[in-house]
Amino acid sequence: MPANRHFTLVRRPQGMPVPEDFCLVEAPTPALGEGQFLLRNHYASLDPAIRGWMDDVPSYLPPIRLGDPVRATTIGRIAESRHPDFPVGAWASGLNAIEDYSLCVGGGFTTLVDADAVPSVTNYLSSVGAIGLTAYFALLDVGKPKAGETVLVTGAAGAVGSLVGQIARMQGCRTVGIAGGPAKCERLIRDYGYDAAIDYRGKSYDELVAAIREAAPNGVDVHFENVGGDILDAALLSLNHKGRVVLCGLISEYNDAPHGARNLWQLIVQSATIEGFLVKDYIPRFAEAIGPLAQWVRDGRLRMDEHVDKGIENALPAFLRLFEGSNDGKMILQIAD
Ligand code: NDP
Repeated sequence: MPANRHFTLVRRPQGMPVPEDFCLVEAPTPALGEGQFLLRNHYASLDPAIRGWMDDVPSYLPPIRLGDPVRATTIGRIAESRHPDFPVGAWASGLNAIEDYSLCVGGGFTTLVDADAVPSVTNYLSSVGAIGLTAYFALLDVGKPKAGETVLVTGAAGAVGSLVGQIARMQGCRTVGIAGGPAKCERLIRDYGYDAAIDYRGKSYDELVAAIREAAPNGVDVHFENVGGDILDAALLSLNHKGRVVLCGLISEYNDAPHGARNLWQLIVQSATIEGFLVKDYIPRFAEAIGPLAQWVRDGRLRMDEHVDKGIENALPAFLRLFEGSNDGKMILQIAD
């Protein structure tokens, strides 16, 4: 067995993570116990949520312990197995870590994947993985969009947001996306079929409020929130009666002190609802969405851009691109060829 490199958390980041918070550690892989298998990780999904797991605060998963590899969803081939359902050579995906090999037990997010069912096996980290499942269930189950309604999406050029816009359009909705910079806004319209795009960069809060009102003249029925902060506050001012706010993420607060929403009064004014969404809650229903998502990808109705950075040693710079906004679609780290 070759050496197993682990991208390890050695110090809790204060604000934006820096190289001193991590160390690339080589350690032998322990022998397999009964019911375990060893996954040769080929790709890791770089997700904003990983930043939250680095903090020692109560969350839906325990914090990554200091000295442990950084948790991430990975996909790879089974190198050794003592688990009857996970044979050697098969592709599998699960919530593992940024490391060459992960010791897995099955259950939870861990699943075999059919590499031939999609154009690229990396799609299981994007459109037909947790990202696609988030967009699908958060929009359809929580947002409940109806044809003719307006759906506003923040972080709209990101992995989740780009899919939400496309799925909302399939429901017959008018879609408005908010993203940073003219290039991303162009892509919202051209690549993801948004009806209108708003560039939030360089805009004051008042300008943002005005831009949303202009792009959604009939108000917002479903607001899909990925960012938080001033953008959420501005969006709340355009909510329609019985509007639904889907709280999927608050990326603007992951490296910063929480901002807090100041316009919650609008939920009362509009008899609107706000509901948090966690993809983990939908594990029992994943199969229901994977079929349609994979079909939409195969027939070209659902576009997902993936950006693959290579090398476990590049894990930190690749991860930081999520917060700089310099990512281009779903960020994936290639660990092995
Ligand atoms: P991506 O990494 O694809 O995109 C992140 C984008 O967020 C960046 O490209 C950037 O776009 C924008 N961004 C980053 N920092 C800021 C900031 N300070 N202010 C405004 N925008 C910022 O992310 P995902 O699509 O994977 O995730 C989107 C959100 O969904 C995240 O909040 C994530 O935590 C959440 N999520 C939640 C899940 C759940 O179960 N609840 C599951 C999966 C994701 P730009 O250049 O346009 O600013």
